[in-house]
Amino acid sequence: MLQEEDELKRAICFACSSQAGVLAKVRNGRVVELRGEPDHYLNKGWLCERAYAFIEHLYHPERLNYPLKRVGERGEGRWERISWDKALDEIAEKLREIKEKYGAEAVATTGGTGRGHQETFKKRFMNLFGSPNTANAGQWCAINSYLVETAVYGFLTRYKAGPHPAKCIVIWGQNPDQSRPCEFRRLMELKKAGSKFIVIDPRRSETVEKLADRWLQIRPGTDAALALGWINVIIEEELYDRDFVEKWCFGFERLKERAREYPPEKVSRITWIPEREIVESARMYATVKPASIRWGLRTDIGRNATSNIHAKAILRAITGNLDVFGGDMLYGPCEKVNYGPPFEYTELLPREQRGKQLGADRHKLWTWPGYQLIHDAAKAYWYGKGCVFSYAPACHEPDVWRAILTGKPYPVKAVICGGNNPVVDYPNSRLVYKALKSPNLELFVVLEQWMTPTAMLADYVFPVANWLEMPVVHMSTLDGLTNFVAAGEKTVNPLYERKPDYYFYQGLGLRLGQEKYWRKTLEEEWEYFLKPLMEELGVKSYEEFARKIRWWFPPLEEKKYEKVNPETGKPRGFATPTGKVELYSTILERLGYDPLPHYEEPPETPVSSPKLAEEYPLILITGARFRPFHHSEHRQLSTLRKLWPEPTAEIHPDTAGRLGIKDGEWVVIENPRGKIKHKAKLTTRVHPRMVSVQHGWWFPEEIPEDPVLFRAFESNPNVFTSDEDEYCDPPTGAAAFQPYLCKVYPARKYT
Ligand code: SF4
Repeated sequence: MLQEEDELKRAICFACSSQAGVLAKVRNGRVVELRGEPDHYLNKGWLCERAYAFIEHLYHPERLNYPLKRVGERGEGRWERISWDKALDEIAEKLREIKEKYGAEAVATTGGTGRGHQETFKKRFMNLFGSPNTANAGQWCAINSYLVETAVYGFLTRYKAGPHPAKCIVIWGQNPDQSRPCEFRRLMELKKAGSKFIVIDPRRSETVEKLADRWLQIRPGTDAALALGWINVIIEEELYDRDFVEKWCFGFERLKERAREYPPEKVSRITWIPEREIVESARMYATVKPASIRWGLRTDIGRNATSNIHAKAILRAITGNLDVFGGDMLYGPCEKVNYGPPFEYTELLPREQRGKQLGADRHKLWTWPGYQLIHDAAKAYWYGKGCVFSYAPACHEPDVWRAILTGKPYPVKAVICGGNNPVVDYPNSRLVYKALKSPNLELFVVLEQWMTPTAMLADYVFPVANWLEMPVVHMSTLDGLTNFVAAGEKTVNPLYERKPDYYFYQGLGLRLGQEKYWRKTLEEEWEYFLKPLMEELGVKSYEEFARKIRWWFPPLEEKKYEKVNPETGKPRGFATPTGKVELYSTILERLGYDPLPHYEEPPETPVSSPKLAEEYPLILITGARFRPFHHSEHRQLSTLRKLWPEPTAEIHPDTAGRLGIKDGEWVVIENPRGKIKHKAKLTTRVHPRMVSVQHGWWFPEEIPEDPVLFRAFESNPNVFTSDEDEYCDPPTGAAAFQPYLCKVYPARKYT
């Protein structure tokens, strides 16, 4: 019940990537209750357990509250308190020295999942400082889809349920029941209203059980083959939208030729999906209209990432499901706000520095060369905004660690890590650890809410605010929109000396000659960001916008490609070099990659590595999402931890029986690069030849000091994921979190 002294603040949940609306009851300056915002467009009053746990998160005794400076060896855990100002002075001085001696490119940053705004201001600081080496987790997440889809048809597609629901929805490589519970509820509503679901997943996930009309249990890593098989069926059976293809697609004949290489019987052999299932599911997707293929993370990673995304994009286009109501809409960027490259001063990064970006020689779509082509094609079309995600262009993350350790192609001497925990979450954890411990690295700074295995290795740790302690703006939800904007209020002032990440980058910028590019407060930054919209709506301040307007959506418009451009008198077409949907991508071609999707057997499977499979006979997948955690976060929160106290490996009961493994016992999962321990969960969710292990595990209750480091390597599958080029997708550099080969045995045999 609201009491007289209570205030109700409107926040936005950043506990995962869906961004629900939250009402926070504040009493005497303290948040006492969180609940879902009843009329919110996404969550409609509902919240998951993660969001509710954020009162505990806010007041938790182990939150970082003061800046710390290392006084012992890295990882030793000896710290002294330091003020923000003094720490920023020292760091700015060191960065200046490194820049003079080695060049600005010797400074790199790392990033993770969105906790609000860190990537935007990190990117601004780095562009102005002159370094192209911002690494981030977008390289194995949605940003690959963003880049490939923008190359193919000018923007990222998003499905939005609403007045025109899809009749067929394909969930490909995603388990939203666990990863995005708010969005999953919307999907359940569609199911009740009659939409049909095809779910493609190697596991019989919760989403499969609750939604699937058809479940395709695919062999991990073979998604591109399946997508090409669908294209084959759709073309051979003439189920494609001939009119749309003739008018709006580029390269259909060449696609047709390529698709002939993937007949259903061959695809069945590759994917382990029965041929009939492949054909019938392709027919269902092509004929039950409108249809949508949702974004899924699993197809954004690994050796075939670009082909997976490209083939899915082609399916949307040739079936006539692109930019139509109920299909996958091309919303474009938000026209009414100042964001993207001008907000981040992307153009101010000197040209010679862009050319030095780590990985730009091999992974050209992810780095500056690809970004420039995509941005140039999209810029005029999308009202001068073009490529707008802060995560791109970025450097190839694995190259940062190698540059620290080897000095090649040049030394990296400083790393700023904000909003992520790379020792646990990045592939090849041991290499990340080695680089961060290396004496070659002269400065390592971490911005964090908690002491983590990564923060333990830092020279300076800054305590940053969570989403209840700062004003936030967001513009995309994977539920479907990218051209809208929403704002959330700060519910309480940051506690102790915590601050939003913004003040770190602004503080450094002010000390390093960037004065004219930074405003005084984060609120002022958001006011500039929202200025065109605020002027149109007659709103005077950020606070007023967050409180009264809250979110803004432009009118929904389909088939924008048909709309006549008054300047040319011709239809707008698509934001690509040819103005059409590039089934055959001229951007990929110019970058030297295959312009059409193809399938390549991943490097570590029973097919590509039969000898290795003799010793490691099981197929390992990592990264399946599970509630209540989000990646490596939230394990300190007792309300959540009691729901899932320990890491769990799913093993088929027949396999476990053969290996002498009992349900609930600790097992060792081993591959050629390392071994970890999880508790066995015997379940028919997984194929008898597969094992699924959870990612993100470390133990905040354990000893923080190195070498224990909260047991960061004991149950963390990134000790055996690889970031070598042969495992990565060539255009994007996306690392593989699956598939790998492994063996499993009871932990009592652990040596
Ligand atoms: S699903 Fe995500 S956005 Fe929704 S309430 Fe849970 S943590 Fe917040």
